[in-house]
Amino acid sequence: MKTYRKELWFKTETRRAFINITPQIEECLRESGIKEGLLLCNAMHITSSVFINDDEPGLHRDFERFLEKLAPEKPYAQYDHNGFEDNADAHLKRTIMGREVVVAITDGKLDFGPWEQIFYGEFDGKRRKRVLVKIIGE
Ligand code: ZN
Repeated sequence: MKTYRKELWFKTETRRAFINITPQIEECLRESGIKEGLLLCNAMHITSSVFINDDEPGLHRDFERFLEKLAPEKPYAQYDHNGFEDNADAHLKRTIMGREVVVAITDGKLDFGPWEQIFYGEFDGKRRKRVLVKIIGE
């Protein structure tokens, strides 16, 4: 069995952002040489997410509104966590959007359903943060 590990780094200009990282993940898969197996991709921070959905700008604005309704960024004082930090909303948003995705690798490709794309979801950005890619198989 082959294994492959890589860290991808991101630094967004804004506090919140959704980035389609599918091309980078496909590059990792090519680099790994693995044709049949499983790919895990997870955020290595507790205020960002990796999730699969449609690459459609309207949907991304809907996600932003949906998350702001559930866990609004402001006022910061509404959260117990915000004693020394201001990112309680980011922890909550990340929990809703999830930590990781697992994708089947078939015939050297990500075995996606229609419209599936992998996104990095940033909820407390403007600093360098990592995503882990782990691939196992043969
Ligand atoms: Zn925090």
